[in-house]
Amino acid sequence: MCNYEWCVESHRGVGGAARAGGRRARSGPAERARASASRPATSRARPAPAPAAAQRRTDGLSIKTTRREHSHAVTTQPRSLVHSADTRHTQARETLYPRLASRKEVIITSDYISAAMAENDWGYSCENGPATWTEKFPEARGARQSPVDIDTSRASSGGSAPPLKWRYSVNHPRSVVNPGYCWRVDENGYDSELRGGPLGSDVYKLQQWHCHWGAVNGEGSEHTVDGRSFSGELHLVHWNTTKYNSFSEAAGQPDGLAVLGVLLMCGKKHDELDKVIRLLPFITHKNDKVTLSDSLDPVKLLPPHNAYWTYPGSLTTPPCTESVTWILFKEPVQVSADQLASMRKLKCGEASCGVEAMEVLHNYRPTLPLGNRELRDYSHGN
Ligand SMILES: [Zn+2]
Repeated sequence: MCNYEWCVESHRGVGGAARAGGRRARSGPAERARASASRPATSRARPAPAPAAAQRRTDGLSIKTTRREHSHAVTTQPRSLVHSADTRHTQARETLYPRLASRKEVIITSDYISAAMAENDWGYSCENGPATWTEKFPEARGARQSPVDIDTSRASSGGSAPPLKWRYSVNHPRSVVNPGYCWRVDENGYDSELRGGPLGSDVYKLQQWHCHWGAVNGEGSEHTVDGRSFSGELHLVHWNTTKYNSFSEAAGQPDGLAVLGVLLMCGKKHDELDKVIRLLPFITHKNDKVTLSDSLDPVKLLPPHNAYWTYPGSLTTPPCTESVTWILFKEPVQVSADQLASMRKLKCGEASCGVEAMEVLHNYRPTLPLGNRELRDYSHGN
């Protein structure tokens, strides 16, 4: 079954509409063709989900079932299995995670996180976009969610913490992957190190890096700064090797991950990033993968000045686990309009979807409240 109906559309989901502030997203060719039909794009929403039905199981577990019908595909949403303690960490999806669902004590494990990260049962359209994620991924409702708007007037000084330090391997083969919602470079476990600053003495290792972008230049960053959006955002995802044995184990822990965020501005071409951009035509469809054998220096993806903001947050994609120490550089880096346009040509469907494999026109989650979390400002860099 082709899931193209769940692909990115020419407008933001409910959660994105507020932040988009009326900006109109550009449509891709396929989308434009579809939007030119008698119905406007915004009226193509699928029928509303049927009301959830709840029942009491004999083993004391409450099961909620939801069925959502689409005009092109009927998709049965996995049943949610809710432990009576009713905490976010005691929920799992029975269909996707039968091993977990068979237990009375359901906890978020590395298996759960890996499965949810790999599963494309979510996206950025009205039907499956950020406003719907909380239905399937309870942690997305948490109080430590990302991204946030960086209100610079709220940031407190980071004080005299040791500088943030990083070291990356330049010469090793990397995989460039289309997981169906972005492009991603997998580092394949090669040597790297990130420590200092808000991470203290723990040593983090680079697992992968990927990008978020918008349908038009000037939007696409996940974090905003005093309400301002940028044209995209790179995320370099690291995991805590001092305390945990694997990325997926770390991804479930409050201090498990550290993500360097780099805001992208539309401007001049980024030469180092172009080594990846040039490969995007070879990973047009979901699950396409190529090897980048050229040398690439991740340090060159970072801005020259290393001042940053930091706060405790979450993954910005499902399962939205609250395990990330965010480190967002203040200084944006430039990428060209052509490079951004190349990203928007990626498709969220597999090649078997043919012309129905829609473009990933935008893939950013709207900002969420910072709440009472501390936002710190480190101006010294390294
Ligand atoms: Zn990201």
